Amino acid sequence: MSAQLNTPQREAIHYLDGPLLVLAGAGSGKTRVITFKIAHLIRHGGMNARNIAAITFTNKAAREMMERVSKLMTADEVRGLTVSTFHSLGMQILRQEAPHLGYKPQFSILDSYDAGKIISDVLKSTAKDEVRKVQSQISLWKNNFITPDEMITEAANDWEMVCARVYLSYQATLTAYQAMDFDDLIRLPVELFRNHPEVLAKWQAKLRYLLLDEYQDTNTCQYQMVKLLTGARGMFTAVGDDDQSIYAWRGANMENLRLLQTDFPKLKIIKLEQNYRSSVRILRAANSVIANNPKLFEKQLWSELGLGEPIHVVQCKDEESEAEIVVQRLLAHKFEHRTEFKDYAILYRGNYQARIFEQALRNQKVPYQMSGGQSFFDKPEIKDVLSYMRLITNPNDDPAFIRALTTPKRGVGAATLEKLGAWAGQRHNSLFAAAQETGFQQQVQDAQLAPLEQFCNFINTLQYRATREDAGPLVMEMLGAIGYEVWLFDSEDSPRIAETKWKNVLELVAWLAKKGEADGKNLIELSQTIALITMLEGRDEGDVDAVKMSTLHASKGLEYPHVFLVGCEEGILPHSESVDNGMVEEERRLMYVGITRAQRSLTLSYCVKRKRAGDWQFVDPSRFIDEISGDDIRHFGRPGAEPIVSKNEGKSRLAGLSAMLDAKKK
Ligand code: ATP
Ligand code: MG
Repeated sequence: MSAQLNTPQREAIHYLDGPLLVLAGAGSGKTRVITFKIAHLIRHGGMNARNIAAITFTNKAAREMMERVSKLMTADEVRGLTVSTFHSLGMQILRQEAPHLGYKPQFSILDSYDAGKIISDVLKSTAKDEVRKVQSQISLWKNNFITPDEMITEAANDWEMVCARVYLSYQATLTAYQAMDFDDLIRLPVELFRNHPEVLAKWQAKLRYLLLDEYQDTNTCQYQMVKLLTGARGMFTAVGDDDQSIYAWRGANMENLRLLQTDFPKLKIIKLEQNYRSSVRILRAANSVIANNPKLFEKQLWSELGLGEPIHVVQCKDEESEAEIVVQRLLAHKFEHRTEFKDYAILYRGNYQARIFEQALRNQKVPYQMSGGQSFFDKPEIKDVLSYMRLITNPNDDPAFIRALTTPKRGVGAATLEKLGAWAGQRHNSLFAAAQETGFQQQVQDAQLAPLEQFCNFINTLQYRATREDAGPLVMEMLGAIGYEVWLFDSEDSPRIAETKWKNVLELVAWLAKKGEADGKNLIELSQTIALITMLEGRDEGDVDAVKMSTLHASKGLEYPHVFLVGCEEGILPHSESVDNGMVEEERRLMYVGITRAQRSLTLSYCVKRKRAGDWQFVDPSRFIDEISGDDIRHFGRPGAEPIVSKNEGKSRLAGLSAMLDAKKK
């Protein structure tokens, strides 16, 4: 196995004397070091897989790493190995230790949509932008261990005061619901470890070696978790690239790279300089763009993969024509190079850009897969079913209670619900608990009470069965009992939409059945797991032959033979908000991440005009394009440059058209 490693990689893998940081540019094999090091620790380091935890940034990355590790070793050798995200490690810890924090192990996990809803209720505002701003302010405070009470006394201005008040009610609501948000999954384990040394000692004994991928994107909370878990021994390997830090908006702190040196004076640093991913021109473009940012650490990057094609820069008339041209060029390229759809990725700055490309791909019957977009689990019909699962997991989850009770409606009137809300509010109780209290029940007429009692009994029975039966069939039976399918068709105007929604629900049930069986998880465990899946990316759709569509953020750590990076315009990349807030460096790192995803070819596209708020506006190409040496670029579509379809491309254009026709026939 060491034949597939270069000297510094091998050194990083063999180094077990203390804390280690592998600092290197994109595609230099940092993630590979982690996978091979896990194998080394188990085979030659005398460690049991159970005592090793590898932390990645996304669920998808975790799955991929587990797959790669499984290829290097036998099932017996890897048994008990933890490969997860910070959040799922946090959840694992909290599930076991919840009582120390006054929580039940069946706590609910709120995704950012549900959390946003609570904030919007408290704020008494539905303005999305405002809610989002308050939410991210609260998140930043939470990640820096600042409590609501501290903020109430320390708020520096009116805006902070508003946020602090919302923060206070928000946190009280979460406690009442026995719910946690994503930030809590990291923050609470840290508090737990700080306040309960015996619990910390237990986890330190369990997780004796930590491996951390994408270290540059850890935030303060995550860093504290690492520090506490590794303790004075500092037995860890972190790998990272300061030039790829793109999560400042979520509190990621690049300074954590430097802090490692201060906090662990014995820290050894190894640099990797050979890139195994991209051709020379792609790498040169990436290097010259990032050279415009100030350097935190000096790094070099070179590749032996040949000069490669110049980077294609395509000017398009407007956004619709950009989408069409990209799909056309993709098809032509595919035909000419006899590649597969899965060799291509279309990357963009923001999710809102995806729709028009989806349309163009659909028009040409090109299969595609989205990641980092609206998740399957965010669809309303899926959230309906999940609300039942959440309620079964934790009956005190009020948002889930309301959604489940009213979808489909169960004959509980608005007046009864109002009384219930008031009663629960006075007693700081959950709706579910309040509904079963005599004091409340005495206020309501029998006819009104009956459906409510029935509902609570129904949930109680399901909760009893949830830990004893397989999740898939149980959820299916539940859907039958509540008449969900009939309700869907009754409440949707279009039977086609109802059908699609029902199909999605069936897909969820199939997924629960499969996942439940594969991981031996019951309904309650699955319900908690799903909350985490929704956070960074959708489901794993397996290795199908489809063009990948992804935001730049969600493409981190991944690689694709051919990349189209679209919307390379001032205002989009760099994003206008970042330009206004002096965050161009972060945008440049995002560009660097995008460029370095490409292995063999890279196309950058931009529009001359774009519709904004209903009006056409002329836009400029991204400044980052100018930062690439002209020698490495071939322009298309702009005055004086080659036309979108050049002479020497005429052949491939024809080929593209016939490929399109082929695809249409299918
Ligand atoms: P990123 O910064 O984008 O996360 P990375 O540094 O983690 O990149 P990897 O994804 O580990 O890089 O590796 C990039 C590619 O190079 C992968 O396809 C990997 O298999 C390959 N690779 C890494 N090291 C070697 C090596 N020594 N020999 C051959 N291929 C290698
Ligand atoms: Mg990596």
